[in-house]
Amino acid sequence: MSTAPPSATALVQTHLADLGIPADYGRLRGLPEHPEATELVTARTLKDGRELKLAPDAAAAWLALQAAGLQDGVELLLISGFRSLAHQRGIIERKLAAGETLEAILQVNAAPGYSEHHTGRAVDIGTPGCPPLSEGFEDTAAFLWLTARSAEFGFWLSYPRNNHHGLIYEPWHWLFQPPTLSGQIPLRT
Ligand SMILES: [Zn+2]
Repeated sequence: MSTAPPSATALVQTHLADLGIPADYGRLRGLPEHPEATELVTARTLKDGRELKLAPDAAAAWLALQAAGLQDGVELLLISGFRSLAHQRGIIERKLAAGETLEAILQVNAAPGYSEHHTGRAVDIGTPGCPPLSEGFEDTAAFLWLTARSAEFGFWLSYPRNNHHGLIYEPWHWLFQPPTLSGQIPLRT
């Protein structure tokens, strides 16, 4: 007899409890629980050899988005893709160990289980000349281009200014959420 693995929810609840995050965090923040992606492909290999991974459909859409940007003279860089629950927990644990308060951390990082990066469909986007993951990204040509063109490729800004999830404004964070009607996204093969 094999034992069924714990449900994602039970696993997430364990992470929350271990970090001292209330069990009703998701409900209070209006954040859905996101399962970890099961299928991932490499979307970018960094100079140090680290691979940034995305779900296959999101990777294809990202590359199409990036290519379309280049055609318009805008360089989009993938800064972060898939993150596991354990990775997200590690980020929070390191910040706690460095003396940051949980309240401050949770304004910047979603709790494990609630980060869109778990799905492999969220991308943090940068552009040359702008510090990564900074609000200044809003003032770049890349951001202006994204606001005009991203929807064509199925990407949407997740955390606008004054969002109701208690997360800071993240002009760099976009989620691949294609419309249900297939064929509307100009994916390249
Ligand atoms: Zn992000």
